[in-house]
This record gives sequence, C-alpha cells and structure tokens, in this order.
Amino acid sequence: MDGVWLPAGAFLISVLLLIVYFTKSNTKSLETYIYARLIILNFLFSLIGMGVYIYSMTIGDISIVSIIQKVYLSILSSIGFYMFLYCVAINQLKEKSYNKIKNVAGIFTILIVIGVLLLPIETILYDSVLDVGGTAYYCAMVALITFFVFIIIMTIGYFFKNRAKFKKCIPFLVLFALCIGGFLLRRYYPEVITETFFFSFFFLIMYFTIENPDLKMIHELNAAKDAAERANRAKSDFLSNMSHEIRTPLNAIVGFSECILNENDLESAKSDAKDIVMASQNLLEIVNGILDISKIEADKMEIVEAEYNLRDNLDSLAKLMIPRIGEKPIEFQTKFAPDIPPVLYGDSAKVKQIISNILTNAVKYTERGIITFEVNCINKDNACSLVISVEDTGRGIKTDKIDTIFNKFERLEEDRNTTLEGTGLGLAITKRLVEMMGGKIVVQSKYGAGSKFTVYLKQEIRNTPQKQEKVYAVTVANADFSNKKILVVDDNGINLKVATRLLQPFKVIVEECESGEDCLERIKDGASYDLILMDDMMPRITGTETFHELEKLPDFKTPVVVLTANAIEGMRDKYLQEGFTDYLAKPIDKLELERVLGLTLAHTNEEVKEEIFEPLPEELFDINVPLKSDE
Ligand code: ADP
Repeated sequence: MDGVWLPAGAFLISVLLLIVYFTKSNTKSLETYIYARLIILNFLFSLIGMGVYIYSMTIGDISIVSIIQKVYLSILSSIGFYMFLYCVAINQLKEKSYNKIKNVAGIFTILIVIGVLLLPIETILYDSVLDVGGTAYYCAMVALITFFVFIIIMTIGYFFKNRAKFKKCIPFLVLFALCIGGFLLRRYYPEVITETFFFSFFFLIMYFTIENPDLKMIHELNAAKDAAERANRAKSDFLSNMSHEIRTPLNAIVGFSECILNENDLESAKSDAKDIVMASQNLLEIVNGILDISKIEADKMEIVEAEYNLRDNLDSLAKLMIPRIGEKPIEFQTKFAPDIPPVLYGDSAKVKQIISNILTNAVKYTERGIITFEVNCINKDNACSLVISVEDTGRGIKTDKIDTIFNKFERLEEDRNTTLEGTGLGLAITKRLVEMMGGKIVVQSKYGAGSKFTVYLKQEIRNTPQKQEKVYAVTVANADFSNKKILVVDDNGINLKVATRLLQPFKVIVEECESGEDCLERIKDGASYDLILMDDMMPRITGTETFHELEKLPDFKTPVVVLTANAIEGMRDKYLQEGFTDYLAKPIDKLELERVLGLTLAHTNEEVKEEIFEPLPEELFDINVPLKSDE
C-alpha cells in the first residue's frame, strides 16, 4: 500500500481545487466553462484512481477491478477531450469553426468511450503492481495520444501567434514535462500510479496561472478601465477638435460683422458680408457633419429606403458642380450608363450625400484639367450594382496617406489647404455611409497627378412606374408679391428680424408675432394672411399645437410652413405628416425660401410661371425590354 500516497495526494488536490474554484465568483467565458468541467472530471478521476488502487491492493477481485478500470479510462478520455477543447477555445476561432471542431471531437470521444466500455480489458495484479492492457485500454490511449498531438500543435501555433500572451502556454508545457516524467517513472517503478497526481497537479498549475478567478477579474477590470480611458480621450480630442473647427468660421463671422459696423463704404461692407455668408455656410457644414458623424458613431443613423430616380439625382448633382467650378479651367465630363434603371429602391438622400462629397472634393482639390463623373451599373435579378466614380486631375494623395483620409478631422497638407474650407469629416462620413449600405469605396491616386474615387453600391430595382408628381418649376427671382401678406411667428426676436429681412426682396408685407397665442388671437380677430411661417419650439404653446388650433377654426385655409432649427433627418417627413404645407430649416437657405414662396404664393399670383413637366414615356417602365447585362 506504499503507492497509495500519490493517488491520495491527487484526490486531496482535486477536492481543494473544487472547493477553492466553486466558492469564488467567476467571470463568464468559454475557457472558464471548460475548465469547470475539467476540474469536476479530475475530481472523479482521482477519486476512482484512489479507490481502484486501494480495492485492488486489499480485496483484489479482478472482475470488479476491470469494471472500475473501464470507468477510469472513460473519464481519462473525456479529460483528453475537454483539454483539447480548452486549447481550441484559447485559439479564439470563430464560433462556427469552434462548434464544428467540438462536434467532431465529441463524436470521436463518444465512440472511444463506447469502445472502452464494450471491448475486453486485461487487468494484472502482482506484487503491489496494478497493470492494465487489452483493446479497451489501447482504445483510450489512442484517444489520449490523438488529443495530445493536437494540443501540442495548437499550443505551438498559439505561442507563435500570441507571443505576448505566452503565459497561457505555461500549464501545457508543464503537462508535457509531466507526461514524459510519468512515462519514465512508470517504466522504472511500475508500482507507482502517477496519472491522477500529475493531472491534479496540472489543473492546479492551470488554476494559479490562467484560470484564477481573481486574476481574471483583475484583467477584466483593467480592460474596462482601458476602454473607459480610450473613450474619454476620444471625447476630449473630439471636443478640442470641435472647439477649433467651430471657432475658425465664428472668428470670421464675428470679425467681419464688427468691420461692417464700422464701415462707411457700401461696397466694402458688401464684400465683408459675402465673407460672413461663406464662413456661415462653412459653419453650417461643420455642424451638419458633426451631427452626422455623432449619429453614425452612436449607431443612430438609419437607412431610410424608398423608391427613387437615380438618374434625376445624378443630373442635379452634376448641375450643382458647375457653379462650384466657377472660373477654374476645368472640363467637367459626365458619363451615365443608359441602362441605369428608372426606379431604384434605397436611401436616395444618403446616395446623394456620398456622391456629393466625392464630387465636391474633386472640384475643391483640382486646379485645372478634367473631372470625370461616371456611373455604370450591372443589372441582374432585380439588383442594380452601381459603380460610381469621380476622377480628377488634381493634386492627388501620397500613397502612405490614402488610408488616413477616411479618419475624421484628417486633412492632408493643411498648409496647402488654408484657402480651401473643409472639416476633414466629409470622407469619414462618406465611408461610413457606404459601409452602412453594404457598399465599398476605393481610392486610386497619384500624388501630383490626380485621384479616382470609386463607390460600389447595390440597390434594388423596382419596376413600379414612377408616380407622376406635380413638379413645379417656379420662377420667383423677379416675382413681385407686393399684394401678399405673410405672418412670421417666432419667440426669438433675432430670428424674426432675419426672416423679415430675408423676405424683404420679395416685396411682401410681413407681420411679426412672438407667440402661438398671439398668432391665434390675430386670426380669430379676423386678420388674414397668404402664408404663415411658424417656428415650432416656442414656450407655452408650440408651433405644431398652434397649427392644430388654427386648423380647427372654420374657414381657415392659409398655408402654414414650419420654420424650425430642428433640422435632423426625418423631421421634414414628421412635420409634413402633421399637416404643415411645407418645411423650412433654420438657418434659412435663400433658394429654399424662394422655392417655398413660389409653391405657396404661386397659385394666386399670375406673374409666377407654373409648369408641370410632361410625364415620362411609358416604354421606360416596360419590364420586358431586355437589360444591357441580359443581352
Ligand atoms: P475636407 O473637408 O478636408 O475636404 P474630407 O474628409 O472630404 O475633408 O477629405 C479629407 C482629405 O482628403 C482632404 O483634406 C484632402 O486632403 C484629401 N482629399 C479628399 N479628396 C481629394 C481629392 N479628390 N484630391 C486630393 N485630395 C483629396
């Protein structure tokens, strides 16, 4: 019975491990889950190991010893399986691959266990030596050796992939040393049973090196602290960037406004005012960019899909570039494939924003030469794969800088950009929008020669004929609305002043009022207007509430246009659903104001030309016409 000390020691270690491990709260991970199963199996393994030794050395009934040995070998095979799984888990394979490996190894282990239980086993007892053989024993050894070979391969692989985390390999290195030691010991001292002790010792080392719940908790806390610090740094960087970006145009606005106050010469004042308008537009672009990027990063940006006509969007985008090119000696070419389907389904506003960003950059960073705006498509199975490219002969981008242009606030060669306004947000937003829609953006560029931005996007093709919408083309630039009366409702005095001043060139009669109540009173008292421009966010009674009160009045038919700084995406639709005639975002865009005046006052004004475009020819919607790609 001298040899009982090792199995007894193994049993005590396994009990100690169970108690220490399961009385502590633990982190939840795949490795922890497998380790928990391993130490339970190890407890059973060392218990049976000690039991079989004591039984064979005392009672020694061979048939009972053989049965216990079979159970002992089955548990040993299962330990091999879970150790192998643990190694797969630390290699962090994808869930699908992990599950596949687990299933194959699991079936292999079940077959081995069935083999061990059914096949014959030979148990020999002589002079305090318990020796085992037979096909059942060899079956278990095959499983164990197979798993060990894979464990060695994976440990080596893990070591080379994650040298910094080599600590995870330590227990396995100890295991290999124990296996060799155990083999030699058994060879020279066959009466010593080493397996259970070595396994318990191995799991103890695992506990102290990689599976200690306290250490794991500390690691998790450190990781959470690092993440919080990173987020805090990003927030500080963002704020300091913002402060810089916003103050730059504000500086121009405040500075030039001061100049105008002290200016006597009208021409100089006008020139300063032009600079103020430019700085304000830049500021607006920055604010919109920040709102967009913040929404994207907070996962709040949504894809709003609807049917749209890409061709129309492309034409209007191309037209918008002409004034931007201005006097520059640039030839602007457009090449739109004739097989672009008339109706696509997708987020047309975002598609427009993407194209507009890369087109604007091409114009901004090209001094002379050619800008080619090309759109091709491959139509297949109701899907249209769009290839949108903008190629320029501008300044180009250095190869090592190409990836950085998609970072937010990243602007290359700031010293060359001093005269070109920009925030460094455009391409960051563009890339994220393209990716949100499942597309890709690729840049090819040669420094000093030019760049080509290509966007790949897939959109659904719809065969529904386009709605024949009433499209107004209203010429208001020289229109005289002198007999028209407009009421502007806004609680902010400055905003009232801005709206009134912007309406002045149209020669309308403008009345101002500062609250919803005042507006309601005026209408109830019999005042009549041709148009009401209504701010929404007002104290006591909001613009929307005032509008609904107005609607209740008998004979109230005046168009009411909401005038709001609540200009985030989706707001336009929300206000139109409330019943407002139209929507004007603050700051008021001159062209938008012209459009709204044209639409709302046009019906009663003979001088304004109103056109309804001809409907598109029916053949365009004939789905039997073969697509180019099908030919
Ligand atoms: P920005 O507001 O500065 O234009 P973007 O995010 O749109 O910001 O672009 C980031 C940077 O990428 C620009 O500052 C510019 O240096 C570079 N860039 C973008 N488009 C082009 C282009 N077509 N040609 C050369 N450089 C470009």
